[in-house]
Amino acid sequence: MHSRWFPTYFRSINYFITFASYFRNVITVSTKKNLRNLLNLLGNKDKSIGFVPTMGALHAGHISLVRAAKEENDIVVASIFVNPTQFNDAADLERYPRNFEKDQTILEVSNCDILFAPDVSEMYPQAEDWSHDFKHLDSILEGKFRPGHFNGVGQIVKKLLSLVKPDKAYFGQKDYQQFLIVKQLVKDFRMKVKLVCCPIIREEDGLAMSSRNIRLSPGDRKKAAHISRVLLAVKEKAKSQTDTYLLKEFAIRKLREIDNFEVEYFEIAKVNDLSPLSHLSEETRAIALTAVKVGGIRLIDNMMLS
Ligand code: AMP
Repeated sequence: MHSRWFPTYFRSINYFITFASYFRNVITVSTKKNLRNLLNLLGNKDKSIGFVPTMGALHAGHISLVRAAKEENDIVVASIFVNPTQFNDAADLERYPRNFEKDQTILEVSNCDILFAPDVSEMYPQAEDWSHDFKHLDSILEGKFRPGHFNGVGQIVKKLLSLVKPDKAYFGQKDYQQFLIVKQLVKDFRMKVKLVCCPIIREEDGLAMSSRNIRLSPGDRKKAAHISRVLLAVKEKAKSQTDTYLLKEFAIRKLREIDNFEVEYFEIAKVNDLSPLSHLSEETRAIALTAVKVGGIRLIDNMMLS
């Protein structure tokens, strides 16, 4: 689960898309019924299904999940669905980047087999109240700043997993808390799927790839790389400093030095359940996680410390 840099030749998305236009192989379906029919038609008991749920505006981070799924499964299904129930801010939902045609092309060249792209009315034919007890996990870190967010994530991921019935589902370490939420969901509902957590794919300057990055102004885009530099500096410092309070203080001070940065949180926690850690030790794996608003655009990142 260590961070990894994506090969340079895939960095230029335009090159990628030109290359992609030679391929037309992904089958796009927008209804649950058609998806099930297609999977029944293509799959038999010997064929494994890998699933990659996304909200679109695809980048190399998403592609890395599709490639991992392709390596380990016979059929790869990706979904694009901007799930309204996980947005606690209507303006954020409205502004979420959408680029369906480009996404389709990207999935085609990534050798994805099926794209499931439903409308909101297909996934939520009627208003529904759904809630699940994620214990402390949905009220800390992201959950604290985005109330209701993880409940919405749980609601849609449960629907999608029940529909696709994959053998394996692929998620990014980029949204590490979300990965743990899905793990909890799968355990609580006794789903058979195996979850895979894939490394964070970064831009050349270290910024974690995100669909939101394109909303940064050119100046803020440059500054945003500072987030991963601070995480790396903390990882380095953690070799000699085990007091997490001092490490956090250092990180927050470094982040606040940059104009236009508004630090929502910087925490150091246990990898297995994100409970807080006062001291680093050899026995407990630790992760540093942060959310920073850069010129109003909310970015998250994290790094394993051990
Ligand atoms: P999203 O479309 O933002 O909901 O993300 C869909 C999936 O892609 C999630 O499992 C994310 O964690 C994963 N993902 C997003 N950004 C990255 C990245 N930079 N590297 C690896 N995975 C990512």
